[in-house]
Amino acid sequence: MTNSVREKIIDLTRSMCRVPSVTRDTNLSLQVLQMALEYLGDNVEYKFFESGGIHSIIIGNTINMRPKLALNGHVDVVDADSPDQFHPIIKDGRIYARGAADMKGHVAVMLLAFKQFLEENPDNNDVVLFLTGDEETGGFSGAQHVIKNEGFRPDVVFIPDGLGSYQIVTSQKAPHHFHVVSESIDTHAACTFHLVSYGPGAHVADSFKASNPVNNLVNVYMQLKLMCAKDPGLTVEMSFVDTINRAGNKIPSEVYSDICMRWLPKKHSLDEIRGMLEKVCSEGRCDIVSEDECEISLDAAALDRCINNMLLVYESMREKYAKGTVDNPWASTFELDVLYDEPDKDDKGEVLTSSSVHAEFGWRWPLEQHRFEDGMADMEEICAENSCKIDIKRSHGDGDGCYTDTNSPYVNKWKTAMESELGRTVEFTNSHGSSDGRHFYKFGSEVILTSAEIDNYHGANESVDIDSLVTLHNALCAFLSTFA
Ligand SMILES: [Zn+2]
Repeated sequence: MTNSVREKIIDLTRSMCRVPSVTRDTNLSLQVLQMALEYLGDNVEYKFFESGGIHSIIIGNTINMRPKLALNGHVDVVDADSPDQFHPIIKDGRIYARGAADMKGHVAVMLLAFKQFLEENPDNNDVVLFLTGDEETGGFSGAQHVIKNEGFRPDVVFIPDGLGSYQIVTSQKAPHHFHVVSESIDTHAACTFHLVSYGPGAHVADSFKASNPVNNLVNVYMQLKLMCAKDPGLTVEMSFVDTINRAGNKIPSEVYSDICMRWLPKKHSLDEIRGMLEKVCSEGRCDIVSEDECEISLDAAALDRCINNMLLVYESMREKYAKGTVDNPWASTFELDVLYDEPDKDDKGEVLTSSSVHAEFGWRWPLEQHRFEDGMADMEEICAENSCKIDIKRSHGDGDGCYTDTNSPYVNKWKTAMESELGRTVEFTNSHGSSDGRHFYKFGSEVILTSAEIDNYHGANESVDIDSLVTLHNALCAFLSTFA
């Protein structure tokens, strides 16, 4: 009997691992879900769910959205280190393949145990199997969607997607990813316009009747200065002027000047600036002869300031939230994962020059040590102090950790089943990573997160110990029988 369970687990695991169901290949995950459904036979009821292209399935004697127990697994995997990983190898009592440990071997165990349970208890509606296809990217369209939007609320969920050696995970660190932007408004556009104004020219003694073109230019320049005073970011400077005339007793008949306008491309276009200048010039009897090419430039110091501000945010947050060490790992960590400056674009989508710095900070913490709201408030305050702002839309995680009560009757039922199968004590432990358990926990389900003997999950030599899967299977059968 044990032998045949062993063979079935190997067969099922291998067939599922041959499908390279990397999360983004949603149809391949769907294919594995269909394999699971097929394996459970014709007498089951099932319901598929879909959100954002991600498929999930609930299977049972009936579709009970509020069962006592849900067995939960995901059939998606992370990218393989090499295509060979999708050709499972059996060596030294282990299955080596991408997904063997995380978590198709465990899905196989649940399928076997659940099939037996359904056959022995055809009228039982207290237990369902729930499989998803996006745990590796956060479970937002899989578990979270079905729980939050479809009302799936098991009393307890069993998830063999934890740490090795049958340990029961009691607390998973809560994650949040902050996307922070430090913006420079100091990108400037500059354009020099060449102006001329003409007059009749006359002896200086006749100035009472001859209009002096210099006066036209001065008026125009003063008008422009007044306009700039009312528009932050807009400046005007005269960078060249010449009356050509060098005779002190003569009113010039012409004056040439260069007017340099600088403005914020986010506020004005070149056409607007030109229009503004044309209006003032025509009222002031000056002409625009020509213009230089418009230049966009970033004040180099502005970008430095952006980066500096971002690093100040990082330093301040680390002071408070970077506490985890090798000796004290069960503490909050705060790391900068992504940092780059993003080119700004004009109305036409043309790349101008860098104008903002982006950073992503990963924060993970034990729920019992920090409150999400407190970290969020600190981050907001520190960002405001340093001219940075949190991009809420690009931030995610929201502090959904997962906590399991070690005194819960369900947890102890499982612990007893596992210990009597194993003949030794099962330990409680903490997990630095997160799982779909957090989505269940958030909506009030108890979570039992555990695992068989796994190695190198997400790595090049990912593997699972076959005997340990059999042991887990036997314990699961015993646990299931308490729901019969
Ligand atoms: Zn997993």
